[in-house]
Amino acid sequence: MVIVGAQWGDEGKGKVTDLLAERADLVVRFQGGNNAGHTIVRDGEEFKLHLVPSGILHPGTMCAIGNGVVIDPKIVTDEIDALRRRGIVTGNLRISANAHLIMPYHVFLDTAGEAKLGSLSIGTTRRGIGPCYADKSSRLGIRVQDLLDEKILRKKIMAAMEPKRQLLRPHAKDPALDLHAMTEEYVTYGHRLEPYIADTAKLCWEALDSGEAVLFEGAQGALLDLDHGTYPFVTSSNPIAGSACVGAGVGPKDIDDVWGIAKAYSTRVGSGPFPTELEDEVGDRLRERGGEVGTTTGRPRRCGWLDLVALKYAVRLNGMTGLVLTKLDVLSGIDPIRVCVRYRGAEGATFEEFPYHQSVLHHATAEYEELPGFTEEIGDVRTEDGLPDAARDYLRYISDFVGVPITLVGVGQGRDQVIWVGDEEARTLRAA
Ligand code: GDP
Repeated sequence: MVIVGAQWGDEGKGKVTDLLAERADLVVRFQGGNNAGHTIVRDGEEFKLHLVPSGILHPGTMCAIGNGVVIDPKIVTDEIDALRRRGIVTGNLRISANAHLIMPYHVFLDTAGEAKLGSLSIGTTRRGIGPCYADKSSRLGIRVQDLLDEKILRKKIMAAMEPKRQLLRPHAKDPALDLHAMTEEYVTYGHRLEPYIADTAKLCWEALDSGEAVLFEGAQGALLDLDHGTYPFVTSSNPIAGSACVGAGVGPKDIDDVWGIAKAYSTRVGSGPFPTELEDEVGDRLRERGGEVGTTTGRPRRCGWLDLVALKYAVRLNGMTGLVLTKLDVLSGIDPIRVCVRYRGAEGATFEEFPYHQSVLHHATAEYEELPGFTEEIGDVRTEDGLPDAARDYLRYISDFVGVPITLVGVGQGRDQVIWVGDEEARTLRAA
């Protein structure tokens, strides 16, 4: 089963994966880097994870960071240390030997690249992820397995830095970019990470071949996809479901289910088009009630109404079999609720489908359907029947519009604050 973001990321994938991880034998991350931040609240305790899959909180679940992820070894070792300090066992973690490493020069290049773009900047998290994927494509990447051989590592770093000399010139004297110091530092990470390094694709095959439940955990969301998102305001990898195959090393036929996670409204971090953005008190209310501040960056998120044109696009791109709607509780007290059902272009044309042309999207305004809101607090509701009529109608409207059943609804931060729709819980349990 694949779990993906159906919007611009931050949809609450962490909580959903955590919930499903309990029922899975193996959880695998397949793309992105430490630009993804998951917040999981368990028994009132908050865990922030950037690289380690959410399944780590379940001692019986194996967790893998797949080949498609880019890894900052400092971040992953810090994350392992922090988890261990809080009594979480990390012996069930595996890291792909083929995953690419974020190097200090990637971080410098990311920052320099964004600064150069000025007002056109993409709003990257400046963690070196884009430049790392670029090196991977240029075949200049350094992989996790290279950490285990100092000589090879040094040679590869030298080769990777050579074409960047000019760009790195302003930082030439920075100790972080010294070849020997860098090699030494990374060899040390290698020693630390060695027990975790493995052939994670093989781990997936073994689990699949013996009928175990494997959960592929995506980061970011469909509209940030490098190929299908709002390019160039996108992430540097493919967060859609098909990418799980590439980033973990399995085939399309290995996937039975694809669940997309969407909020009951929309948010976006960083720059780029966002047709349903609200710059009024409703937007402020969503931001406040929804706690819409980035896990990784601390940046306030842009907030707006649910965009069904974009969501329908995400459904198709991912071949979604189920939709999870999180944060329904945040809409309580907002009446009416609006949902975007089409866009209107600058020249008056209407668009029922997500426009492929960048200029059209940049100038598109959202057209809305108004639905009745609800005032009840729903944090304690655990069944569909227990929801106010307006909330139930809202769910039905969304599901009918995008043509995918809603399987799970989030009504609060806590992991128990969910509503399983229909017999989805029984079905998921059976599948596991
Ligand atoms: P992710 O990257 O997709 O996992 O999303 P984040 O973790 O960045 O953001 C999701 C935030 O929403 C976290 O703080 C979650 O605890 C919180 N959250 C998840 N589901 C719900 C929900 O149903 N209701 C509310 N109020 N908060 C939720």
